[in-house]
Amino acid sequence: DGGRPMQAVLLGPGVKDRKVLSFKRDALKEKDTVSGLIRSIVATSSPAQRSAFHVLDLAKVVDLFRAWCSALPGVRPYYAVKCNPEQALVGALAALGAGFDCASRAEIEAVLALGVQPRSIVYANPCKPEPHLEYAAEVGVNLTTYDSAEEVAKIKRCHPNCELLLRLKGPDGGKAKVDLGIKYGALADEVVPLLRAAQRAGLNVAGVSFHVGTGASCIDVYRGAIESARAAFDAANALGMPPMRILDIGGGFTAGATFDEATAVINDALAQYFGDLPCLEVIGEPGRYFAEKAFTLAARVIGKRTRGEGREYWIDDGVYGSLNCILMDYYVPRPRPLATPRPGEKTHTSTVFGPTCDSLDTVVTGYQLPEISVGDWLIFDNMGAYTTAAGSKFNGFDTSDIKIYVAYSS
Ligand code: PLP
Repeated sequence: DGGRPMQAVLLGPGVKDRKVLSFKRDALKEKDTVSGLIRSIVATSSPAQRSAFHVLDLAKVVDLFRAWCSALPGVRPYYAVKCNPEQALVGALAALGAGFDCASRAEIEAVLALGVQPRSIVYANPCKPEPHLEYAAEVGVNLTTYDSAEEVAKIKRCHPNCELLLRLKGPDGGKAKVDLGIKYGALADEVVPLLRAAQRAGLNVAGVSFHVGTGASCIDVYRGAIESARAAFDAANALGMPPMRILDIGGGFTAGATFDEATAVINDALAQYFGDLPCLEVIGEPGRYFAEKAFTLAARVIGKRTRGEGREYWIDDGVYGSLNCILMDYYVPRPRPLATPRPGEKTHTSTVFGPTCDSLDTVVTGYQLPEISVGDWLIFDNMGAYTTAAGSKFNGFDTSDIKIYVAYSS
């Protein structure tokens, strides 16, 4: 939609009036519209934008949603809010028809506040604090995951009308960035006892869920997980429980080629193991898939040191801020200067530090960058997954102060 105006709305704490920057995409004369937008924000904002900010490209979110629907027809995505709870992202996904995976009371509250129906929420945390469960009962969020007998007893006490999804341990071998199976999921020999525990408590097990691990790169694990899910469905039948109706294939997706490969495996495995259950409701809990590539970080260079040929820079975001993903999510930073490098421009071996006084707060070392100056900007792509969601206020640099510009075409 090259000729349509593209706008950016500035959101964030302390932003009293919604601020809209508008420009024509084709006026930018560059393919990378997000960089063009960042240039425009830096050049034209009033008051001047002088600290790190994120840009959320809503067009990207729409593209990803369409790609999800065409690759996994009939599989409703329940966006995992924990990945990036930015309201504009959650709101856009709600408008597109997504459901939501919430991990806590606050996430449920935030999603309900956007007008989402409680039935479009799965409380997908297998171990929940009692007051949070009581809140879910109050607002009618009636589907949750479990993987222990103790959780069954707790749900019975706090939310006796809740339906359950038995969370299975994801299979090994997915080469995930973060293997969630270390912490969650019933082992094969725990499935029957856990089904019985729910049966004894009089709680309905509506289905099964699993998570192959976030950032899984070996996509064949979905096949094994779907096979194990079918075994759990059959075990419930053998116990005389009401037929299960929901299969939750979790998250673990990364947009791009691995998504295409993963969905081919999933569709094939669904046909193989669940082809005889045409009324099955299949849902997913993607987080990274929607968030990662939709956000770009612009961080400002706030300091510089020259040591011989080497260069050291300080920027105003770091591993205690939205770049915590370097430590927590194995993000590999590849910053690029906002200013377009001149052809043949000399580069220097550079280190980029974050703003806190901790030396661990180092963003990248031994990295080639052209000469940049204090006041210039470094751009980090793919900064939406597990970034601002997990930042701190360490040293008084508050992650929630990072402004979000939301880019959309109108
Ligand atoms: N569902 C659950 C229960 C999770 O714990 C997570 C991530 O930790 C997700 C979904 C989202 O995973 P991803 O971002 O890999 O899609």
